This record gives sequence, C-alpha cells and structure tokens, in this order.
Amino acid sequence: MQELSGRTRQLVFASMRRFADLVADEPDAIILTIGQPHFPTPAHIAEAAKRAIDEGFTSYTPNRGIRPLREAASAYYERFTGHRYDPDREVLVTVGTTHAIDIAMRALLAPGDEVIIPAPAYPGYEGAVRLAGGHPVFVDTRSTGFLLTPDALRQATPRTKLLILASPANPTGAVYSEDELSALARLCVERDLYVLSDEIYAELQFDGSPASISRMPGMRDRTLVIHGLSKSRSMTGWRIGVAFAPAPIAAEMAKGAQFSVSCPSSISQMAALEALTCGHEDSRPMREAYRMNRHLAVQALRGIGVPVVEPAGAFYVFPELPKALSLTSDAFCEALARESHVALVSGTCFTRYGEGYVRISLACPPEALQEALGRIARFVERRRQG
Ligand code: PLP
Repeated sequence: MQELSGRTRQLVFASMRRFADLVADEPDAIILTIGQPHFPTPAHIAEAAKRAIDEGFTSYTPNRGIRPLREAASAYYERFTGHRYDPDREVLVTVGTTHAIDIAMRALLAPGDEVIIPAPAYPGYEGAVRLAGGHPVFVDTRSTGFLLTPDALRQATPRTKLLILASPANPTGAVYSEDELSALARLCVERDLYVLSDEIYAELQFDGSPASISRMPGMRDRTLVIHGLSKSRSMTGWRIGVAFAPAPIAAEMAKGAQFSVSCPSSISQMAALEALTCGHEDSRPMREAYRMNRHLAVQALRGIGVPVVEPAGAFYVFPELPKALSLTSDAFCEALARESHVALVSGTCFTRYGEGYVRISLACPPEALQEALGRIARFVERRRQG
C-alpha cells in the first residue's frame, strides 16, 4: 500500500476531552472542559431555522453564503467596530470559524511559510497552518500577561508571512488594547506581515469595546478578520462563521470554500441571519453570567494560593499550578479527574507553553462551578500536605 498523506499524519488530535472521558461514568462528575456555552441557542434563532425548513429553504446557496446574511454580517461588524466590508467582495460565510481559518491558511500560505502564533494558543491554528503546508512558530507570552509584545514580534524572520492574533484569546482570556494593537500593527506593516484576527469572542469581552487590529493604519489590506456565532450566541452546532477579508484574499478563500464544502447549511444561514439582525442583545446575559463566574473562579483560586491572571474576555480561566504541588499539567488533571471527578483541560493542549497551567471553562451554572472549585481547593490542600 502507498503511504498516506504526510500532511495529516503530522497532526495529532487535540486532547480537549481527554480528562472528561475519565469521568464519563461518574454520576457526580463536573466537566469544565470544551468551549461549549451552557445556554441554549436563543429561541428566536431556532425558530428562524424551523421556518427555513418549513418554507423549503433547503437548497445549495452561493459559495460565499446568501447575500442577505453577508449584508447583515457587514452591517453588524460596522456597528460593532466602525469598519465596513463590502458584502459582495469582502465577506464570506463559512462552516464555523474553523472553516474560515482553514481556507484563510490555504489562500495565504506557501510551503514553508512561517506563521507566528502567540502561545499558549487555541490548537486549531496549528492544525490549519500545518494542513496548508505552513510552519507554526509559537511565541511564549507567559511573562507578558499572555499578550504578544512588539519585542516578541521582532522574532519574525524573512520567512514569516502571517501573525495570528486572537482577542479575547482562548485559553487565556487575554484582550489587547488599542495601544497594544497599534504598536503591533506598526511592526506588521514594517515587516510586511498578514494578520489573521480571530474575533470570535469579541462580544464576550467583559469591559470596554473590543479593538480590532484591522482598523489600525495600513492594516485593512493585510488583515483577515474571523468571526462566528458559536460562542457569542451559543450556536456551536449550527456551524456558522464569517470572514471579512480584502477582496483578492476573499476571492481565493471562496475558491477554497467551493471545493471543500460548497456552501454552509442553508438552514443555519437563515438562523444566523436572524441572529445578526434581531439578536443584538442575545450575548449580553451570557456575558454577564461568565463575568460572575469569572469572579467566583478568580477569588476562589487566589484564595488557595493558585496564581491566575484575571481573564478580560471569553469564558475560561487559565491558572498556573503551584510549583509546590510538583505535578505536571497532565498529572494534575488526571489525578483531579480520578480523585475528585472534576475534568479540566491540561495546559499542554495549548502548546508546550501551556505546561504548568490548566484551563477551567466558566460556561456552566455557578453552583456547578462553586462545587468544582471547592473540590479543586480540597484536592490542592491534600496534595500540599503530601
Ligand atoms: N477560534 C477560537 C479562539 C476558538 O476558541 C474556537 C473554538 O473553540 C474557534 C475559533 C472555532 O470555533 P467554530 O468553528 O465553532 O466557529
């Protein structure tokens, strides 16, 4: 038999669910692992999908998505950030943000092109970069509040083509200010870098308005903005993302979309249209719930001497394990799952720079979070006593 493709063989499955699997049969298990909002999709959005089915809106759509949705996405983004994208040439509806990232990489990267990824990082970026033949370069942000600094970006080599920036970021909840983005943008222009700006958690930023690097001088033509409804509207299973990109890049991405998926689900597109036209307030109660859970988690963790940078957005906390425990992230998560029936994600899921950390999802009822934090506190106490 001939060998299978090296492109996929070099990839490994992200181990997000590894510790959840360990507690699957425990009736008192608390699972704080994958990035799944605990709210249902808002009812008016689900109703729009049902109407689409009843009215027979069940055929192929244009590769870039239906025009009303592209218009709504463009208007939504303009209202949110003041930046307008042409619905005909610069907006693409994709099968989740994951698909947008994939076709962006295929459009941009040539074999061997380097991509700077601030780490700890969401594992989807590495996979997409590698599938497109690119080479991920992880830059350690642990000593700078999980934010990429201009000094760190100076590590870009002549082979660097792209920077991936997420704000708010997964797994750290880090958010970039206008000033921080503007300093990075100057370097991107100087070094002729493209930027993929992953803004999927923008509506879940706790304070202030989200800033986008796409708005900085000289950046519009070199930035691809990636958005989606999975997190902000609790629509992970509907698989709808949106990409805003300069027309020549959007055209290449549309080819990628044509040959990989043809188009996103027509039914999900009608749901997304409803979300982006009539659902502007939908994310507010979710954001407030995550904000309260953030407070619970940060207080409880600091109370037991576990250092944690307060996340400024998204729905995760990413605490550092106390050195005195002498446990790797994987060992901590495994022992916590087996002994206390609480499942977290090991920091190592987010590159090697996540070693020494764990990710706790805040997307759960506060009572469950409180119970989990209590169990974590008792577990840490037992380990400290040896
Ligand atoms: N980007 C980030 C930072 C994420 O955390 C995720 C999912 O966890 C995605 C993109 C992909 O989201 P989706 O494909 O559901 O839109």
